[in-house]
Amino acid sequence: AQGRSYRAFDVDSVKDYVAAQGELTERLGTAAAGELRAREVGDGNLNLVFIVEGPGGAVVVKQALPYVRLVGDSWPLPLKRAYFEWNALTRQATHQPQRLPGLFHFDPVNALIVMEYLTPHVILRKELIAGKRFGHLAEHMGTFLAETLFRSSDFCLAAAKKKADMALFADNVELCAITENLVFTEPYFDAPLNRWTRPQLDGPVLSLRRDRAAKVGAQEMLYRFTTKSEALLHGDLHTGSVMVTATDTRVIDPEFAFYGPMGFDIGAFLGNLYLAYFAQEGHEAYPDQRVPHREWLLETAESTWSVFSETFARLWREERGGILYPRTLYEDANDETGATIALHRFLHGVFEDVVGFAGAKMVRRLVGLAHVEDMESIEDLDRRATCEAKALLMGRELLVNRTTFGDIYGLSCLARAIR
Ligand code: ADP
Ligand code: MG
Ligand code: MG
Ligand code: MG
Repeated sequence: AQGRSYRAFDVDSVKDYVAAQGELTERLGTAAAGELRAREVGDGNLNLVFIVEGPGGAVVVKQALPYVRLVGDSWPLPLKRAYFEWNALTRQATHQPQRLPGLFHFDPVNALIVMEYLTPHVILRKELIAGKRFGHLAEHMGTFLAETLFRSSDFCLAAAKKKADMALFADNVELCAITENLVFTEPYFDAPLNRWTRPQLDGPVLSLRRDRAAKVGAQEMLYRFTTKSEALLHGDLHTGSVMVTATDTRVIDPEFAFYGPMGFDIGAFLGNLYLAYFAQEGHEAYPDQRVPHREWLLETAESTWSVFSETFARLWREERGGILYPRTLYEDANDETGATIALHRFLHGVFEDVVGFAGAKMVRRLVGLAHVEDMESIEDLDRRATCEAKALLMGRELLVNRTTFGDIYGLSCLARAIR
């Protein structure tokens, strides 16, 4: 018998593939490829994304390519990342199904996932650039972060289960390597793929490469990233991995998933909110037009952290059942206070990681390979560079002084002070 092997689909062949999947017939309203329409909408750096539509409904087909789409076939990237994405999605779905697309089908050979077509959802980053606000965003993201992180940690999971899962995701080596190099290391030396707005940011970029404290800060965050296997992370939780409507929030694209420090996911999201904050000035039609939007972005960062920590505290009280801080030592010994103090000490450590990771994520989007549309869509390069220079100051400050902020409001103060 001939073994099946991978092939990359196009807008025609993906229709035949989808039509042949019996479990999708009802959802699409047909089993005939001729009644389907398909288009490719992937705007990401790595994968193909098709919307396949039938008379009864539509699905999204996301397929991994064997190379980095952004760079081309000179940069190979393994197809197994679809397997990690599927495994992360199905685990997150056991905790927070309402924050994810519906999951319909996984094909490991073709490295593809069939999922719910989110509509009328749009990518959060695009909405933030347009100056739109989302009243539920912080509540939804803070809860998603607390539930997915707490429930995959040693505070909650049985030890054997967590270790087996750590082993599974430990094989996501190549995607971790992208983060290890592109986020924590390359922005701080003359790496060939680095980009920045030239010549306006030449000075700050050269200073960063001579900045011992920033380099030590970035490497200390890298050490945490590689050694702190606290929880199953999304791994790429920027504002381009969140889709929204006025009332709904969904998290997509966890192909970078692995067991790492909780602060990495939270810091990624917050760092991207701060990037959006500094980009606002570049999108104003007149001075101070975006002040309310900027303030809303800071409030959203604040509330995301407070919802995260409040929800985490509730889970700590109600669902603590792993090997750490067992009830036999605390509640059962009439020492609930001990458990609560331990919780606050733990959250304080997560907060310091959040600050450092947010800083690292900001810096790399300004002077590394991959930039953010928030800044790139500011056409006037002088104006863009002004926004970027301010964001770079904040990112550097977060990296270097991550233990000095006290609480989330300190980060808002810093952002406001950089004018
Ligand atoms: P990549 O890993 O290449 O970044 P993503 O999973 O982020 O791929 O998807 C790329 C784009 O495809 C998203 O920015 C979004 O516009 C679209 N997309 C992905 N999944 C869905 C979905 N379930 N529903 C609607 N659009 C989606
Ligand atoms: Mg993406
Ligand atoms: Mg992407
Ligand atoms: Mg991705």
